[in-house]
Amino acid sequence: MKRLVIGSKNPKKKREILEILGGLPFELVDLTQCKPVAEVIEDGDTFEANAAKKASQVALELGEWVLGEDSGLCVDALGGAPGIFSARYAGVQGDDEANNAKLIAALAGLPKEKRRAHYVCAAAIANPKGEIVASSRGECYGEILTERKGAGGFGYDPYFFLPEYHKTFGELPAAVKHAISHRARGLERLVRGEIFWSLCDQ
Ligand code: IMP
Repeated sequence: MKRLVIGSKNPKKKREILEILGGLPFELVDLTQCKPVAEVIEDGDTFEANAAKKASQVALELGEWVLGEDSGLCVDALGGAPGIFSARYAGVQGDDEANNAKLIAALAGLPKEKRRAHYVCAAAIANPKGEIVASSRGECYGEILTERKGAGGFGYDPYFFLPEYHKTFGELPAAVKHAISHRARGLERLVRGEIFWSLCDQ
């Protein structure tokens, strides 16, 4: 069975990717199961560029097939911010509480109809030579609440409300999030793609 390395160090994101891709004909491993790799500097201008860089750099270093993923939250009223800077919106990488506090302050006083937002997930697969062989993007649309609801998910999830479900990603069961999220949509497109399967068979 082909081995696919998930090139992410964010434990919560990694767990979601493992749950979404579980059951596919791959041995899925994460970076803790590989030799140490250099930190990937996320200096791309787009989610796609960062996902490709994560996949390619790690694949070349390990000599393995690698899945790179870059994601974030884009808020209409903030001109798409925090976008590619979502993980470090408030300054410190991965500080979810500070990021949420900054987001809520930035949207203070805005009515519901001006609080539209969407999550984006860009994913890319690199072969052991570091060449990108497949890439995709998934999005998921909702609104930012004024108060947090639910303790599930991670990052901005307790504030990200899905009108169709009348719940935030913090409230929805993980199985539902994994069926409808930006990450589920992006990864689904990627691994179902014919190009990906044919290249994997080489
Ligand atoms: P990355 O690790 O550079 O891709 O940054 C992803 C960041 O975007 C996370 O740290 C979160 O702040 C945000 N984000 C991406 N996907 C999600 C999600 O599914 N739920 C909540 N926050 C997310």
